[in-house]
Amino acid sequence: MKAEIIAVGTELLMGQIANTNAQFLSQELAGLGIGVYYHTVVGDNAERLTEVLALARQRADWVILSGGLGPTDDDLTKQTLASFLGRDLVPDPAGLAKLDAFFASSPKRIRTANNDRQVDTIEGARVLPNRTGLAVGNLIEDQGVTYVVLPGPPSELQPMFLEQVAPLLQQDQALYSRVLRFFGIGESQLVTRLADLIRNQTNPTLAPYAKVGEVTLRLTAQAASWEEGEQLLNQLEAAILQEGDLKDYLYAYGDDQNLAQTVLDLLRERGLTLTAAESLTAGLLQAELAGLPGASTVFPGGFVTYSLEQKSQMLGIPLEDLRAAGMVSAWAAEQMAAGARARTGADLALSLTGVAGPDKLEGQEVGTVWLGLAGPEGTSSHRLYLGGRDRNTIRQLAVLEAFHLTLKTLIK
Ligand code: ATP
Ligand code: MG
Repeated sequence: MKAEIIAVGTELLMGQIANTNAQFLSQELAGLGIGVYYHTVVGDNAERLTEVLALARQRADWVILSGGLGPTDDDLTKQTLASFLGRDLVPDPAGLAKLDAFFASSPKRIRTANNDRQVDTIEGARVLPNRTGLAVGNLIEDQGVTYVVLPGPPSELQPMFLEQVAPLLQQDQALYSRVLRFFGIGESQLVTRLADLIRNQTNPTLAPYAKVGEVTLRLTAQAASWEEGEQLLNQLEAAILQEGDLKDYLYAYGDDQNLAQTVLDLLRERGLTLTAAESLTAGLLQAELAGLPGASTVFPGGFVTYSLEQKSQMLGIPLEDLRAAGMVSAWAAEQMAAGARARTGADLALSLTGVAGPDKLEGQEVGTVWLGLAGPEGTSSHRLYLGGRDRNTIRQLAVLEAFHLTLKTLIK
């Protein structure tokens, strides 16, 4: 099945807004195992939109349009699609009732005639009610091609797609998917290692997605039964791990199972607690941990120790020794971790110290990071070099590296 996305809006062409709707839709469609072959952006112009529709009809099974459903004259997506399909526009009664209620609820709202255009719907189309706005969407099949018309604001487009369109696509396909999560390998390297598998993908499909510090792969199989789906996914996963030699980088499965969550789950399973003393990251790691439900069972609290003096005072490190060793050093990282562990009684303690930049610190390059880890088996330090990145990326990556270090220690 092939899909094509058409974003309508002159402000997109002018560079005033980025086409994040196309990005969102492409990601979702990839997750559903549907190939997106073209993205088009066209201004608020009926003639050019018609040209784009004529092209799309020849090459796609699903044509998804975003934007131009509002009340103003430049909003002409539904009108243009209706005349392209040779159909009329009729008002959607439920949408109209919602519009009535919207204007009745505040005397300050002035209803003009063009407001009703938002609830126009193409004759014969399925109406997609708008839970978070007023303009109704449409879904209509014509000569084997399904057209979906969605509102421009992402806060309206996203729920409408997820709640009303995605289930239809899924039903059509009987899809089974699995997400593999990798850490410690960049997207370009991973994709290079999997080049053949990606090039030859048919069923299951394979979609890589990169975030800061990690890469995920979504495998989607089309199958007649759950068992068959699982079998297809198992085969592809085995091929990925073997051909790409990626076993050492795979750390978890699932959409929500990021590094912090994986560490939290393992700590809970083992009944262990984790604290941290953070210099470089000043609480980022602890905030990330505390952002997960159930954090209180594994996280008693910790330290933000930015200055030399606070490292010494809060963690009980002799000031003169710390000054002599330097704040960005193996010794400091170990002392910080050991101090945090001693002061909280946690089973494990992490420390993060380093140079986020833009300037060098203690003569050390931007991106130099030391992690410390203290546990029942002693204290260790680990040097990382995360240079060539901006300040906040270095800090974010340091947090991920620290979670990854904890994970490796826990599964050892
Ligand atoms: P409205 O009723 O708000 O006019 P609409 O369906 O007519 O909605 P547009 O007028 O095209 O949509 O766009 C409204 C707003 O939605 C834009 O100002 C922009 O903030 C956002 N938007 C539109 N298209 C996109 C897109 N492709 N990607 C991201 N945001 C978009
Ligand atoms: Mg508009």
